Amino acid sequence: WWHNVGIAPKDPILSITEAFFADSSPNKINLGVGAYRDDEGKPVVLQCVRDAEAKITGCEFLESLSRQGNVKLVEESAKLAYGENSDVVKEGRFAGVQALSGTGACRLFAEFQRRFRPESQIYLPSPTWSNHHNIWRDARVPSRTYHYYDPESKGLHFGALMDDVKNAPDHSFFLLHPCAHNPTGVDPTEEQWREISHQFKVKNHFPFFDMAYQGFASGNLSKDAQAIRIFVEDGHLIGCVQSFSKNMGLYGQRVGCLSVLCMNAKQAIAVKSQLQHIARAMYSNPPVHGALLVSTILCDPHLRNLWVEELKVMVNRTTKMRVTLQKNLEELGSPLNWDHITNQIGMFCYSGLTPEQVDQLRNKFHIYMTHDGRISMAGITTGNVAYLANAIHEVTKS
Ligand code: PMP
Repeated sequence: WWHNVGIAPKDPILSITEAFFADSSPNKINLGVGAYRDDEGKPVVLQCVRDAEAKITGCEFLESLSRQGNVKLVEESAKLAYGENSDVVKEGRFAGVQALSGTGACRLFAEFQRRFRPESQIYLPSPTWSNHHNIWRDARVPSRTYHYYDPESKGLHFGALMDDVKNAPDHSFFLLHPCAHNPTGVDPTEEQWREISHQFKVKNHFPFFDMAYQGFASGNLSKDAQAIRIFVEDGHLIGCVQSFSKNMGLYGQRVGCLSVLCMNAKQAIAVKSQLQHIARAMYSNPPVHGALLVSTILCDPHLRNLWVEELKVMVNRTTKMRVTLQKNLEELGSPLNWDHITNQIGMFCYSGLTPEQVDQLRNKFHIYMTHDGRISMAGITTGNVAYLANAIHEVTKS
């Protein structure tokens, strides 16, 4: 039956972790996967999650959720994205469903897009999280790219981005990262978001926000949702994906939310029913446990405050590692400018290292990262930052 099946292409991110585990060097460092680690390099279970576990033990039923998933999770997620007092939430002008984390929410939307806008395509930033390309490809929605990152300045290519927005056909779908852009760590400023939003209005484009890192950019949940709120204020009907993988450290639990803003509550009911209809054939309904953890944390003021504090600890540690890495490189006398390490934000640093330099780091120093030179800041610790800086200096000094 399956003689025609060859090996699937390796995932550029997951294959790095495999190679890392196969390396027996005591000095090895994994800067590939975007998962938070503490200063000992260990995975972290947040205390708010442990407390929520204790709180729900014994009161959790294991029957499947109704098709709309955990209703509290959806409501609280919408408030996180749109604001506690947002009219969108008060008036029920959004179709919100629990989804299989950020990936599943993107996939659900891509299916919805093809079904109800079959002629449309999606514009993805260049570069973007590599899986975005796979998701829309598998949903059979053609994708194109728009300018985003400028390798020269190691910042935003704002002019080229705006040109692409202007030149795209009216009513185009654009995927935007509202904060902590993956892989570059480069976000538009508030003023630039306002200009982008304005131009989207002129062109009647559809803004689709993939928010995988709310709170991870600045440590402030509202601030990180600023782009979304600007667009909503300007009257856009947006789509929005939320993931709790990073900001609550729930990677394996697959908790997320998809919301689509609508003209009115009636339209929201129709859109929501279609999203549920698509999900029904793919996975029936989403899992219970992780969603209950998140809704418990979001609905309990004490646990919620604890979460925000723990979020700040994670952000402060990654920021400190940025400062230390840059300082170490400067102290080694690196001839290059490393300001972008501290200018970029979130989980990643788009280092500017070439694929050849990335290979040298791996072969000579047992340091693993994606070929595009993306460094997961979470993999850097007080214990390995000097070794890393020295290795980067060695491969970049001539
Ligand atoms: N979107 C972006 C931009 C991401 O970086 C990620 C995680 N790397 C995701 C979505 C999906 O993550 P998850 O499915 O774990 O929520």
